Amino acid sequence: MKEKIQEKFKTLFGEEGILYASAGRINLIGEHTDYNGGYVFPGAIDKGIVAALSVNGTQKVKLFSLDYDEYVEFGLNEEDKPAQQWACYVFGVCRETIKRGGKVEGFNAVFAGDVPLGAGLSSSAALESTFAFALNDIFGNNIDKFELAKIGQSTEHNYCGVKCGIMDQFASVFGKKDQLIRLNCKTLEYKYFPFDAKGYKLVLIDSCVKHELASSAYNKRRASCENAAAAIRRNHPEVEFLSDAKRVWLDEVRADIPEEDFLRAEYVIGEVQRVLDVCDALERGDFKTVGEMMYQTHFGMSRLYEVSCEELDFLNKLARKCDVTGSRVMGGGFGGCTINLVKDEIYDSFIDTAVKEFTAKFGHAPKVYPVVISDGARRL
Ligand code: ADP
Ligand code: MG
Repeated sequence: MKEKIQEKFKTLFGEEGILYASAGRINLIGEHTDYNGGYVFPGAIDKGIVAALSVNGTQKVKLFSLDYDEYVEFGLNEEDKPAQQWACYVFGVCRETIKRGGKVEGFNAVFAGDVPLGAGLSSSAALESTFAFALNDIFGNNIDKFELAKIGQSTEHNYCGVKCGIMDQFASVFGKKDQLIRLNCKTLEYKYFPFDAKGYKLVLIDSCVKHELASSAYNKRRASCENAAAAIRRNHPEVEFLSDAKRVWLDEVRADIPEEDFLRAEYVIGEVQRVLDVCDALERGDFKTVGEMMYQTHFGMSRLYEVSCEELDFLNKLARKCDVTGSRVMGGGFGGCTINLVKDEIYDSFIDTAVKEFTAKFGHAPKVYPVVISDGARRL
């Protein structure tokens, strides 16, 4: 990929650019915890974006996407927003950097990526964090890493119409090889944990379905969580978010809230604890417990939070049947991928079985993405 990018860069701009890269991400555990003030546990992966850049001495950005095979030029003022959606990510990063007092002037860039688009691995965060990091470096802005992640998040909010949280951009900027990062979504404190998965592989199996329910169901889940938190708060005023509540505090209010809200809250409180348990287990190198927690998360998302679907439950059951160490739906639910922790020796037979049986049942093949926990934003 690097060679192709430099080759194109030379053809277009007559020189070589400086190479930067960033990554997509997975989240090992901690789902629907972010808006409840709990933990998420992401890591950057070995699939990302690579870009070559050079300052061009003008006030114009000259940008080529190898994957779209398309050239775009734009200025750096608010009214210069390009028509192409893919270019808006780069434009947004320029604007958000400028809004924070950073210097951005004209530059040339060629970029390409290998994160599957829209599969739940956050190709958009990879793109944003590559450029946020690169602009900070070539223009010498000294913006700190957390703010670089926020530049990506604000880009999604203000230029791409996606009201996302901070996890994707955070993981993409902060990711390190063989390490996962536990992020406290309330305080934004974070801590690295070793993910030294010798003898195991992580693999995503993409059901390639997206069920309609997702956004209205998401709002309903949030409302249930807020309702449960409000009930608990009456007894325990220190509960700001649902994740602050102890399990027994939820039991105290069971009769006061709809059973559905109780089940949603039971999942969230359990999930926050599971992130902590997985971190402890990783420090002991205890992958069996990590995997068991992943199965528990799947059960909770399927039966308590009710954000799974037939395809994902099928993949999860199949993983159990094949003796996969851990498996769960990753992301918001209602489609997308399962993330699987698989012992090397059964990897090939599991993938084979999963693809065959899923295809036989649903009439289309799932996609398979093996991932390795890798470095996030960096200069190459
Ligand atoms: P994801 O879940 O993968 O982040 P999004 O819809 O948020 O999905 O972002 C995908 C968008 O990001 C693409 O439609 C495109 O505009 C941009 N993008 C991602 N990767 C690339 C790439 N390699 N080249 C150009 N644009 C990209
Ligand atoms: Mg995205």
